[in-house]
Amino acid sequence: MKEFMDVPAEKVPVFENAELCVVGGSCTGVFAALRAARMGVKTVLVERQNRFGGVATLGLVGMWHTFFDTDQKEQIIKGLTYETCERLEKYGAVSNFRDPEDSMSGVRLNPEYLALELDEMVRETPNLTVYFHTAFSSAAMRAPGEIEAIVLEGRGERFAIRADYFIDATGDGFLCRSAGTGMYRHPSPQPATACMRFINWDRLGEFSSTALRDLIEQSREKYPDLPCGYNWGMYSHGSKLYMLAGTRILHGNTIDTRSITAAELESRRQVRALDALLRDHFPEAELSLQALPSMIGIRDGLHIRSIRQLTGSALLNRAPKPDAIANGTYPVDIHSDKDDSITFRFLSGFETVYRGGRAAEQRRWLPEGESLPYYQIPLSALLPDRALNFIAAGRMIDADPEAFGAVRVMVNLNQCGEAAGVTAALAVREKCALPEVSPAHVRGALAEGGSIVK
Ligand SMILES: Cc1cc2nc3c(=O)[nH]c(=O)nc-3n(C[C@H](O)[C@H](O)[C@H](O)COP(=O)(O)OP(=O)(O)OC[C@H]3O[C@@H](n4cnc5c(N)ncnc54)[C@H](O)[C@@H]3O)c2cc1C
Repeated sequence: MKEFMDVPAEKVPVFENAELCVVGGSCTGVFAALRAARMGVKTVLVERQNRFGGVATLGLVGMWHTFFDTDQKEQIIKGLTYETCERLEKYGAVSNFRDPEDSMSGVRLNPEYLALELDEMVRETPNLTVYFHTAFSSAAMRAPGEIEAIVLEGRGERFAIRADYFIDATGDGFLCRSAGTGMYRHPSPQPATACMRFINWDRLGEFSSTALRDLIEQSREKYPDLPCGYNWGMYSHGSKLYMLAGTRILHGNTIDTRSITAAELESRRQVRALDALLRDHFPEAELSLQALPSMIGIRDGLHIRSIRQLTGSALLNRAPKPDAIANGTYPVDIHSDKDDSITFRFLSGFETVYRGGRAAEQRRWLPEGESLPYYQIPLSALLPDRALNFIAAGRMIDADPEAFGAVRVMVNLNQCGEAAGVTAALAVREKCALPEVSPAHVRGALAEGGSIVK
């Protein structure tokens, strides 16, 4: 049984009275804050670590997906995702995102330049105040569904920020949960992965991810901490550092402190075993580990109960969505929580199951000859049920496992962040509850600010 104790009530200083407070500073949160501040809203952005970018910087995952439809004819994503790439291009810190063919296999970013550029984008924006090293702790409610202020843990002190509206961009939905939103987990949540970076990977020669999987399976007895065989990797753009997403926490849980501590430790044991295996196997390569993430990459944690859950069948059908706020092409990509398998449902109409790095099963999920050029994400999946002045953007989105497998990638969540920022800015203007903001107005304001709205 859990033991509880009373904590004495305390008075905390109020550091800010803002119109909008965004909690969480991945691109999702930064883009939400930038969009609102650019619309003249007095905005505060809070991040618990020392830089912006979330999984893209802290987690070492510098890969965005294409901005074009699957026919490679039409651009479907623009807004701040595109603007950020234009800025990174000046440093040679992004691969060719302008060309549909070149970018079909992904847009590679240099995470360090991304962190620097996000700082600049925030610094250049009036109306925007930033707090680093500040973690959300709890929401103080004015009434059910209405947050008055949030309490934060800063450096050695607790303080509060009052705001008219709040955006939860914590990934995990901490703000929504504290404000009383119903939360749930998927029955088999996608596993967490800690990435790592190596130098001298190029000296391993033609060493494919399938070859690495095979080597892992042959070597398991000698290196018992090796992960299951799943892995993918890439060179960080403009650098000789190779990022390997090669660990996998099976049957894990990342939603409470004890479990995530265990997951961090296990993932680093897996890194250690991989490093030892590769050094022993390729001694002449002088492979060297150069970076570990400052947090394990969480694919699938808690989700909010929204006013309408996004299901796979709703996402992948062609019916028009009057409240569409984002366009995407990333396939439904479900990593197994039990082994190294991955299931991809491609918009081309094929579904492929990979086991041991090889296509093990293939079938069509769309009738022969049919494909989907892109799908759309609705605003309703970001609006927590019965919430008046807070909205969520990020992987806590209300989506079933199939829809989530597709929407969970950054180019999609970046757009959700922009939509949350625009919705909050319109609510400030119209002095209304967030669910009362007209989706048509949100779409109009998104287009005005540079997004592609279909
Ligand atoms: C290993 C791995 C590989 C992936 N590969 C890709 C890929 O190639 N391409 C792709 O697009 N997607 C990929 N994804 C998915 C994608 O990275 C994530 O789904 C996405 O980044 C989630 O974005 P988010 O904004 O919801 O959360 P996060 O990126 O996790 O950001 C949440 C932010 O909130 C902050 N925060 C959290 N709690 C608090 C708090 N209490 N107070 C203040 N701040 C807080 C965090 O520090 C963080 O900055 C991958 C995911 C993983 C794990």
